[in-house]
Amino acid sequence: MPLLGAHMSIAGGVDQAVARGKSIGCETIQIFTKSARQWRARPLTAEEVSRFKRAREESGISPVFAHTSYLINLGASDDDLWAKSTASFIEEMERCAALELPYLVTHPGAGTEEEEGLDRIRVALDEILKRTEGSGVMILLETTAGQGATLGHRFEHLAWLIENCAHPERLGVCYDTCHTFAAGYDIRTPEAFAATFEAFNKIIGIDRLKAVHLNDSRGGLGSRVDRHEHIGKGKLGLEAFRLLLNDPRFRKLPMVLETPKGPDMKEDVENLKVLRNLLKDKKKQS
Ligand SMILES: [Zn+2]
Ligand SMILES: [Zn+2]
Repeated sequence: MPLLGAHMSIAGGVDQAVARGKSIGCETIQIFTKSARQWRARPLTAEEVSRFKRAREESGISPVFAHTSYLINLGASDDDLWAKSTASFIEEMERCAALELPYLVTHPGAGTEEEEGLDRIRVALDEILKRTEGSGVMILLETTAGQGATLGHRFEHLAWLIENCAHPERLGVCYDTCHTFAAGYDIRTPEAFAATFEAFNKIIGIDRLKAVHLNDSRGGLGSRVDRHEHIGKGKLGLEAFRLLLNDPRFRKLPMVLETPKGPDMKEDVENLKVLRNLLKDKKKQS
């Protein structure tokens, strides 16, 4: 069985994200380690870190992992933005290390030109990994929808970054179901599902897959539109999620929702229910 959960708000402190996740039955959660729309953040205090670790231990939620801020662009062609992004990424890695989070998920970046953009991302990743050696935090490159000049919408992009980075052992992949579908990878039928993951395995390697984002898609196959929809209510449909959740290769992988929701999280509760109903061996879940 995969571990199911959702992205949780850290309003009120990082420990509050764990409490929120626990309250709706998450087995795993994703968080931001700071505001996702601001560059700066005050450092985490020792008190915050220990409150978080205690809450995580008591909740049994594992793993808790992080997603980078939306401002970061490691592929930026502007030198100042690139440097700012790289420095900010290092700070986020340090926050993850303090909280003992195993993964930091990131969109690779956006460049004006594919080859140049990918190379700028590679240089940034090398610098980040060098500066955070021994932190125990792995960077997960997320598959993107390919909106605008975004890179990472081809499996080849992620494979190239992993192969050409100085520390490939500290890079993994996060598969976003909405993004990949919008990028042109179909998983709606057993045949399409098999073909997509055969390609993933051949190009990237299935063992690089460390986490999954469970989002249905408002945009159609190959639309390049990054709009998340509730599970079963979008263009992907339930069968895609049934195939993914029951694939033995993805057993024990953390899979989190990033679907729209209000503060009471009732949408997450509903989406988790829909997902758990798709699991073939439901008894083990209860
Ligand atoms: Zn993302
Ligand atoms: Zn995602």
